[in-house]
Amino acid sequence: MKAKVSQDDCISCGLCIDMCPEVFQYNEDSKSQAIEGDIPEECQDSAKEACESCPTSAIIIEENTFENPQEQANEASENL
Ligand code: SF4
Repeated sequence: MKAKVSQDDCISCGLCIDMCPEVFQYNEDSKSQAIEGDIPEECQDSAKEACESCPTSAIIIEENTFENPQEQANEASENL
């Protein structure tokens, strides 16, 4: 799972940074920016909550996508 922040929509309210500082931080424009790469498992719930709480819906959460369908099947079976 990854997160992105739309720099056009972020109003720098700081809510996501308060809720999930492991993932969201201010950048040099004083807007929120998400960490690069996958969100650590222990932060995923708080990142989703921050996404849902953002007043301007600036946060985009991307669930993992698999290029290889077999990889997706393997992951699904591991989660059973
Ligand atoms: S909650 Fe939304 S508007 Fe507020 S800092 Fe985070 S991304 Fe920006």
